[in-house]
Amino acid sequence: MPIVLLREGSSETKGNQAQRNNITAAKTIAEIVRTSLGPRGMDKMLVNNLGDVTITNDGATILKEIDVQHPAAKMMVEISKATDNEVGDGTTSTVVLAGSLLSKAEELIAKDVHPTVIVDGYRMASEKAIEILKKASTKVDAADRQILGKIARTSMASKLVSVNAEPLSKIVVDAVIAIAEKASDNSNNLKVDVDSIKVEKKAGGSIEDTKLIQGIVLDKEVVHGAMPKRIEDAKIALLNAALEIEKTEMSAEIRISEPQQMQMFLEEENRMLKSMVDKISASGANVLLCQKGIDDLAQHYLAKEGILTVRRVKESDMNNLAKATEGRVLSNIDELSEADLGYAKLVEERRVETDKWVFVEGCKNPKAVSILVRGGSQRVVDEAERSIHDAIMTVKDVVEYPYIIVGAGAPEVYISQKVREWSASLSGRSQLAVERFADSVEDIAIALAENAGMDPLDTQTQLRAKAALAKPRYGVDVFNGKVTDMAAKDIYEPLKVKEQVISAATEVSCMILRIDDVIAASKSKESAPPPGGGMGGPNPYMDM
Ligand code: ADP
Ligand code: MG
Repeated sequence: MPIVLLREGSSETKGNQAQRNNITAAKTIAEIVRTSLGPRGMDKMLVNNLGDVTITNDGATILKEIDVQHPAAKMMVEISKATDNEVGDGTTSTVVLAGSLLSKAEELIAKDVHPTVIVDGYRMASEKAIEILKKASTKVDAADRQILGKIARTSMASKLVSVNAEPLSKIVVDAVIAIAEKASDNSNNLKVDVDSIKVEKKAGGSIEDTKLIQGIVLDKEVVHGAMPKRIEDAKIALLNAALEIEKTEMSAEIRISEPQQMQMFLEEENRMLKSMVDKISASGANVLLCQKGIDDLAQHYLAKEGILTVRRVKESDMNNLAKATEGRVLSNIDELSEADLGYAKLVEERRVETDKWVFVEGCKNPKAVSILVRGGSQRVVDEAERSIHDAIMTVKDVVEYPYIIVGAGAPEVYISQKVREWSASLSGRSQLAVERFADSVEDIAIALAENAGMDPLDTQTQLRAKAALAKPRYGVDVFNGKVTDMAAKDIYEPLKVKEQVISAATEVSCMILRIDDVIAASKSKESAPPPGGGMGGPNPYMDM
């Protein structure tokens, strides 16, 4: 008599088969992004089910856009997202490394090494690798613009915008330094809140027109035609309250029997709105930025007072405006006084292509800034924005954790060498796993070389010959197709990114290796997947 545990229609894949399926799925994901690694990596054209086209070589973006169904593949996608959130760069490397780790594990499994042994070996090796990496890194001054510039340039080197990396990296470094603040823990550490850098984009012009604004750009226009469009020495009221007469919550009925009553009623409304505007004007404000709506009549009075006004400003923008102008956002007009006003040298409405935007700029010591990204087409500005995001994150990484290391595959080969040496001191089968780990890390450098059309074996031998130095320096010069001193070429990356790549890739591959049973519920019939099988649809394999 068989014991039935699972609901009819469920499926179970066990042991080797389950493992093999998962590894294959994860490796497939790694193969997709592998060719996009590094400055000579290829771009991917992604078309979603609405026909929107994205062109990118950013690992996290590629995986975000493609619609992955297999649970193990999904884990790879998630790890790239996690890396993106955590350090902002190194997403492709993470996935490529995880793919290599899994493919080497597969070889060991085929030789009857138990997955648990491999997992243990990988974990040990990853700890060791990070230790080696730390020792090989260089401590820098977190406020050194030159160093930060190198970091931003390296991050942009592998993107579509690499030709403009010079001016863009300067913008990124200036932005991050402007908003960096002392950490609250009394140490001398700095903290960077990347939300304080507003990246606004508009297709048109060229990438060279991309600008840093010491203040905030609002994609809104001045609310009334008769208002001034330009105010110098702006004193800015920031208001989170509507300049409207509140409608009652309940439906109330007012009976008016005589025409005078109607007149009085309107006059009262009029008077209330006027008094609101008077309070704003009495504070000395000549600019009003309001998070809520503004009644037509109030607009008229504001215009008469010559107050440049923008309404329905986003909450995040209000916060940044407060940080940039050193003003205070008030939710009660009665409290408004001169001390609450923010300052900007200039507030001006300008035409940006077909839109009118309001620029609040020339703030003193702004703790929030904007980057206005321009470029030939929507796709160019989109990719430029992503690259700027990555660069901002890498600069933040170094400002907060001021250690850097040479890039271009140099640290990977170095780690690989050291871990391999260390593995000789280990005994048993975990040694095998540690060796495979070393091979996998080296594989990142090989992928860089392959993408540059270089011979992988030649490169590997040349790299290994140079890895015996005290610090990693020699890497893959993808533009000249040879192994050279990459420190001399100013290719530097944050230590934090490299650490994250190793720990995240180890984590996900160990997680996948430890699964020996996949139990999948049958597809539920009621909730059919959305057209095109979006990511939100039910997972045919298992709930993750
Ligand atoms: P990721 O998403 O992992 O950051 P990228 O496509 O940005 O992937 O490639 C990053 C890799 O490219 C890093 O290993 C980095 O050191 C390397 N790299 C960056 N600039 C250069 C360069 N000029 N020459 C060689 N390698 C470079
Ligand atoms: Mg990168």
